[in-house]
Amino acid sequence: MSDARFDTTVTTTCGYCGVGCRLEAHARGGRIAAISPALDGPANLGHTCVKGRFAHQFTRSRDRLTAPLIKENGEFRVATWEEAIDRVARELLRIKAEHGPNAIAGLASSRATNEDCFVMSRLMRAAIGTNNIDNCSRVCHSPTSYALRKAFGLSGATGSFADIDRADAAILIGANPTAAHPVAGARIKQAALRGMQLVVIDPRRIELADYGVLHLAPRPGTNAAVMLGLAHVVQRDGLIDRAFIETRTEGFEAASALIEDYTPADVERISGVPAADIERAAHIYAEAGEACLIWGLGVTEHKYGSEVVQLICNLALMTGKVGRPGSALLPLRGQNNVQGSSDMGALPDTYSDYRPVSDEATARAFEEAWGVPLSREKGHTIPQMFDAAVAGDLKAMYIFGEDPAQTDPNTSHVIEALESLEFLVCQDIFETETTKHADVILPAAAFLEKQGTFTNAERRVQLVMPAIDPPGGAKTDFEILTTVSKALGHDMGYETPEDVLAEIAKLTPSFAGITYERLGRTGLQWPVAEDGTDSPILYRERFELPGGKARFATLPYRPPGSEPSEEFPLILVTGRRLEHYNAGTMTRRTANLELLPSEVLEIHPDDAERLWISDGDLVSVRSPYGRIEVEARVTDRIEPGNVFTAFHFPEVRTNLLIGPSADVNTSCPEYKVMAVDVRPVAEAPARRPALAAGD
Ligand code: SF4
Repeated sequence: MSDARFDTTVTTTCGYCGVGCRLEAHARGGRIAAISPALDGPANLGHTCVKGRFAHQFTRSRDRLTAPLIKENGEFRVATWEEAIDRVARELLRIKAEHGPNAIAGLASSRATNEDCFVMSRLMRAAIGTNNIDNCSRVCHSPTSYALRKAFGLSGATGSFADIDRADAAILIGANPTAAHPVAGARIKQAALRGMQLVVIDPRRIELADYGVLHLAPRPGTNAAVMLGLAHVVQRDGLIDRAFIETRTEGFEAASALIEDYTPADVERISGVPAADIERAAHIYAEAGEACLIWGLGVTEHKYGSEVVQLICNLALMTGKVGRPGSALLPLRGQNNVQGSSDMGALPDTYSDYRPVSDEATARAFEEAWGVPLSREKGHTIPQMFDAAVAGDLKAMYIFGEDPAQTDPNTSHVIEALESLEFLVCQDIFETETTKHADVILPAAAFLEKQGTFTNAERRVQLVMPAIDPPGGAKTDFEILTTVSKALGHDMGYETPEDVLAEIAKLTPSFAGITYERLGRTGLQWPVAEDGTDSPILYRERFELPGGKARFATLPYRPPGSEPSEEFPLILVTGRRLEHYNAGTMTRRTANLELLPSEVLEIHPDDAERLWISDGDLVSVRSPYGRIEVEARVTDRIEPGNVFTAFHFPEVRTNLLIGPSADVNTSCPEYKVMAVDVRPVAEAPARRPALAAGD
């Protein structure tokens, strides 16, 4: 039904988080006038949050990039598109000729569409000739992807958000959905209010802990011990599903022997979680008819994050709680398309569907489709790109829709890397901390201005449609990337993003039956068969591993990469706020800024009293890597010994504090555990790291 208040209304998908709410975007006079929830959106069921519904004013913010910029003599000047594309193509071709294709790397964006990420990966692999392509799932859920593929075979949630409604119990581990995934958070809250037994495992007393039956607050970095303790109790008390283990899994014997060592008393010593709570949580989960395991970055962004996800999978396998309605493993993906960007092969080691670049049959299929020879050599991950730039081996980067100078750890190293490059091109909607170091900036379109698909945290591929045009001379990522590719001598031949989706479907088995028409208003959950049948629940009959069986992991607890010391006695945990999103590039340009205008450091009243810190004081937070200043918020929602802050505000630059420690299997940074010193600014130490002193 049309609404006289608006010129047009378009149904699209939210570009803020991995829940994937369907939205009705109403436009008037070429601007977004209002956004309302689509009542038939399967992930949101007529709801949205403060970001999806209200944070759209950034699209017409006065500081949107509306023309290409070229740096000359250290200053940016406005350029035409022809000049900018010519400069990008000439520099990339020069560097390729002088140093080879592997001297160039690209970063795709988990905020961009599947089609944009596929095109970006083709740009790097086919137009440049390198597998140096990665995306920001590297710094959030790459451990989840790694572990799910090891344990079950596919890199995605085993079920859907709807499974939360059917579960008798759920364990929520290292996630704060009412802030970071609000509509999913509300769904968990409603389920708990209806009687679902909710166990929260998190160092902070997050809002959902108030709705649960049990809150376990482990010391940061000890999740593995807690998961092993839960498994110990399940095994000791005869709560395992022997038939499931025997018929559908491998490797239980070795895992079972290891689990013997993790008694609740031992786990209490390691994690600080009372043994009685470990016992109770294990019984709640194992005795429930159906139960979900839900986790977030509090699990993955650790030195052993990928191993903890494998231990979460173990728990589901021991109890047979996978592959049926109400018993889902649901990783809460951070950015809107963090699932899709990796599914599309914007990764240094895999094509779409996570097929290795070294796999001959896959590589040949892509060579045939793209008409060029492709490298079988793995490319660099994001941290390896920055290391290679500092070492002088990487000469150019093409970064689109990402701001690693604010969001990535060890910021001083990232900046050194960007400054070491001979040529940096950034494609974005605003100037950012990263674009400061660019040679060319290309103005791009926001999610409300373009077409394509996003894949949400339940593997649901949903349509994205433009509600307004990009401002000024800004263009869609699709248009920019295909134009750059043509200028590099590789004409991709697509006319529209729909053509890209058709090629994705042809080259990607789990997308085989996906078309715009079939996606319709509610999307489809991959894998989608050629006849359009999708898969809300995975692994009903078999796992996607050789022999069809899931694999137990035998992994002990190992301590985190950073531990408190005399010099750095508190542990900093970082995370997100309800009102803002990631680097805050979009939400800080909306009325959400009035809701939360600045960052704070949460500190327990006992620590605050001991350190002479009062609520609202400016405090210095120092780690071995950097120092920041931020306002203190004294709260008992955090455990003594821990402090918490987010990274949405460039003026705070939280990631200056985070070091190079990373997940052992995927290089995902250890954002969640950093030993720090906190004190009132007046007493800040004289000795500070160089970057902090100058910044
Ligand atoms: Fe958008 Fe996530 Fe909020 Fe839904 S919950 S409206 S997807 S930010």
